[in-house]
Amino acid sequence: MPTLETLRREAAHCERCELYRRATQTVFGEGTAGADLMLVGEEPGDREDLAGRPFVGPAGALLHTVLAEVAPARSTYITNAVKHFNFIERGKRRIHVKPKVIHIEACEPWLDAEVAAVQPRLIVALGATAVRALLGPGVGVLENRGKLFPSRFGIPVLVTIHPAAILRAIDTDSRRRERKSFANDLRRGIALFDRGAMEETVGMATRKKTTRKKTAAKKSTAKRTTAKKTTAKKKTTRKYSKKAGSKVKKVMEEFSSGKLRSGRSGKKVTSRKQAIAIGISEARAEGDKVPSAPKRSR
Ligand code: SF4
Repeated sequence: MPTLETLRREAAHCERCELYRRATQTVFGEGTAGADLMLVGEEPGDREDLAGRPFVGPAGALLHTVLAEVAPARSTYITNAVKHFNFIERGKRRIHVKPKVIHIEACEPWLDAEVAAVQPRLIVALGATAVRALLGPGVGVLENRGKLFPSRFGIPVLVTIHPAAILRAIDTDSRRRERKSFANDLRRGIALFDRGAMEETVGMATRKKTTRKKTAAKKSTAKRTTAKKTTAKKKTTRKYSKKAGSKVKKVMEEFSSGKLRSGRSGKKVTSRKQAIAIGISEARAEGDKVPSAPKRSR
């Protein structure tokens, strides 16, 4: 198995996705093999990109402070799900852009190799990108924060928010609240892990329940939509008299061949709806019976 140093050297030349082109360098994880906690963030930010080190910006400072409070005795390894900075330029500033799923998937082999080399006791997924990379799609952060999930690595994953989300809170009070919840997530997850793997099953059950609920909701929505469409179709099928029907048909043929022109403006008719209206009014003008349009169902 490659060591962390070998992986770091190899990742420095990675071109598995487009992100390497504009970023300064690969920002690989930092910490020791065999660490108690492996913390996985989203992607390097502007400062990390320049320094070549993960979590050295304001979000990193916050993470280190909270870790020192809630898990002072635990050794850590810190990394990101995506190893290159994704950004857009606005003047001289480089604005962080969330990585896409293709970037997360392209970078997954590096994350998997890091987990294999570090063999942490517990992995902490910080935010949606890390959760997607570690647990796949379908696990929401907010409804699962503070919970442990089993993972493909055979190591439990604790779900929580990214510390950058705390910094984005609108005012001091919200920031204080968010910081407290973040610390509680870590405290609770670590305590659960220390007590054993019991909560993994709870986490899994929640996930399965959510998936089942979503599937049932999807099915019933699909059913309702089909029923609505059928009703709407029935309602919009007008019963013209035979003569009126052939008049509308004739107008529609003209419309299809691009020859239909408006009687008022003389302009070419480009809308199907307008063409039908012309057909109906012509049929009415000739005294044919045409029912008025049904009310559209909502
Ligand atoms: S983001 Fe990951 S996969 Fe993409 S180039 Fe960088 S290291 Fe390679």
